[in-house]
Amino acid sequence: MNSATPATTESAAPILRLQNVDKLFGDFVAVERVNLDIREGEFFTIVGPSGSGKTTLIRMLVGMDKPSDGNILLRGTRINDVPANKRPTCMVFQSLALFPHKTVGQNIEFPLKIRGVPPAERRGRCERLLQQLHLPQDYYGKAVGKCSGGEQQRVALARALAFDPEILFFDEPLSAIDYRLRKALEKELKDIHRETGKTFVYITHSLEEAMVMSDRIAIMRGGRVVQVGTPDEIYNRPRNRFVSEFMGEVNVLEVARDGDRLRDGASGALLQGPAMPEGFTKGFLVIRPEAFRFLNGTADATPNRLEGRLYNEYSLGSRMQYQVHVGGGVFLVEKLREQRYQGQLDDSVTIGWDPAEAMLFEE
Ligand code: ADP
Ligand code: MG
Repeated sequence: MNSATPATTESAAPILRLQNVDKLFGDFVAVERVNLDIREGEFFTIVGPSGSGKTTLIRMLVGMDKPSDGNILLRGTRINDVPANKRPTCMVFQSLALFPHKTVGQNIEFPLKIRGVPPAERRGRCERLLQQLHLPQDYYGKAVGKCSGGEQQRVALARALAFDPEILFFDEPLSAIDYRLRKALEKELKDIHRETGKTFVYITHSLEEAMVMSDRIAIMRGGRVVQVGTPDEIYNRPRNRFVSEFMGEVNVLEVARDGDRLRDGASGALLQGPAMPEGFTKGFLVIRPEAFRFLNGTADATPNRLEGRLYNEYSLGSRMQYQVHVGGGVFLVEKLREQRYQGQLDDSVTIGWDPAEAMLFEE
């Protein structure tokens, strides 16, 4: 699918550049040494667990807060001290912050009104935005509180687009929305990004959400950026155990080097890993649930095998997940439904994986 991704030119100067940005609250370091380049027109997502510094970072990017140290550059110009209302950017908040008793039209036109745009021009702009966001024209006079969750999301977006900002910032706008609508809105946001061609900077605690929408993703932990890359790069080459675990359910083995192999600390099994980094002594072997195969009764000769007991089975729709107990450890195995395990709970099972399918990290 990578070929379907709109090209973001690698060489273009970034629209937004962060250089060694720090933010301290008293002695507490909320954001530390953040360096990022955000390219014109890309959908850039900052993802991290709660408390990792995402909101603190985006507040500095929109001008609601100033860095304690470092620089924020907009097309090469330092904007650390430029207030939010003087920047060509706009923020869409978690709550959407719509005026519930005002009409859709009044909500969308609000930023134009405070900028002194005449009523007729406001109305024309609003009608174009309703069309662009696939909202019926007769919603102009509808109370926004009577719109559905998805429609309110689009009204908030229309309002954010009203004064034609260069960059749109989003701070977890979908986190309070139920699963099915959220899944639909994730795609809708990506479509709107494509239609408007604007730079989107999006915050979420869900890497799964980030994967759906983003051209590139920055992963934060404890105020620092730990990895930046395309969804493919993050998925295929997570930099450390934290990133690999953040991506979803994975199996983590604590291993130590034993000659040219790895010894699993829990089971004592000798395993063959992927290529070891220079000087590797101990670390973590991470295996995705779908990398496992059930080896019972097969001629599969993979060198990595663990004997266990099938404890439980869960249906995930098109896939099946299994919990396999090996010694004191619990492993998750995932198979497509048509390749599901043919047997019963409490069966003795052997699970195996190809050495190259696991990921080895020192930290
Ligand atoms: P996130 O948005 O990733 O959940 P935040 O940026 O809101 O994280 O917060 C990062 C850390 O900074 C948290 O530990 C939070 O308690 C702290 N923090 C945020 N704002 C303030 C503030 N105004 N004063 C003191 N600490 C703050
Ligand atoms: Mg936050």
